[in-house]
Amino acid sequence: MQSKKILVTQSSMPTLEEYIDEIKDLWETKWLTNHGSKHTLLEEQLCQYLKCKNISLFCNGHTALFNAIKLMNLQGEVITTPFTFASTTHAIVQNGLKPVFCDIKETDYTIDADKIEELITPNTSAIVAVHVYGNPCDVEKIENIAKKHHLKVIYDAAHAFGVYYKGNSLVNYGDISMLSFHATKVYNTIEGGACVYNNDYWYQTLYEMKDFGISGKDSVNLIGMNGKMNEFQAAMGLCNLKHIEEEIEKRKKVFMRYIENLKNVDGIKIPIIRGDVQLNYSYFPIVIKDGYSLTRDELIEKLNEENIYPRKYFYPLVSDFACYKNDYDSSKTPIAKDIANRVMTLPLYADLDLADVDFICHIIKNYK
Ligand SMILES: *Cc1c(COP(=O)(O)O)cnc(C)c1O
Repeated sequence: MQSKKILVTQSSMPTLEEYIDEIKDLWETKWLTNHGSKHTLLEEQLCQYLKCKNISLFCNGHTALFNAIKLMNLQGEVITTPFTFASTTHAIVQNGLKPVFCDIKETDYTIDADKIEELITPNTSAIVAVHVYGNPCDVEKIENIAKKHHLKVIYDAAHAFGVYYKGNSLVNYGDISMLSFHATKVYNTIEGGACVYNNDYWYQTLYEMKDFGISGKDSVNLIGMNGKMNEFQAAMGLCNLKHIEEEIEKRKKVFMRYIENLKNVDGIKIPIIRGDVQLNYSYFPIVIKDGYSLTRDELIEKLNEENIYPRKYFYPLVSDFACYKNDYDSSKTPIAKDIANRVMTLPLYADLDLADVDFICHIIKNYK
């Protein structure tokens, strides 16, 4: 067994000196939260980096997604994917809406746009799709369906920071996109998140929504919550943004090393590289097919024996969670169900040694 523990991810951090340098003036201003100067600066810099028109920062991605959906003023049913993190579905349900699960595509695990229309009823008000693993959804098809049926489109872009599709920043598609800056994501503010959108009027509304609905000294406009990003989070964001391109470049090396190692291994399905997508190399999902000698769970056990810890990301399907399973039949999304039973994400982070990647692949190849 190799001695060091290799986890699925490791948070990106600036040097301690860089962070201390960035937070030092907080001891003079004593302004720690409530849309401070670091918060404002981070919004500006992120808008530039993401090439987007408007951004609103939040204390975490889930709060951003919850408020993005709330802002759309929806009713009834929302078509979404069961192959995602719990947050996506919870944010829909917490808004009093009913999720309707659509199956996913076998190629890139995003929602199958060809199966959306058959799920639309007079009660459908929106589509909440996920750019899972940073893979762009069929944004054009989804846009056409939404236009035809007058639906809103909300993207959970938690995995898609810095992803480009046909030369466009992916977060600019749909009515609104949510980003997560959680410690485990490609870009982090420790905890954090954002909404990205084109409509200039929404900035003020989201501002109030994340600050108890307070709209002036003596006025509260709406029933808001506390969803603000604080100055220590924003400071981490400012530091990490300085290194993001280098981080993504390093991740790309790890990602391509996996591809190189695993591309001809029977029974292992690896991510597809597309010419029209510039990835952020956030995850390396593999799917264990019938041709392989072990099941997904057996292979995870073998890797664990070597101190390597991939994740069953995503398993189980959201519709199989205890809190949802009585209301849903996951066999109605058979591809999502099958992928959830076979998928794992391999360790991937900027500082992962290529020799470790080779070792992980050596074990996988050993059981082919
Ligand atoms: C991480 C994640 C979220 C939630 O983001 P947080 O910042 O952890 O609240 C939502 N959706 C997906 C797909 C995620 O991976």
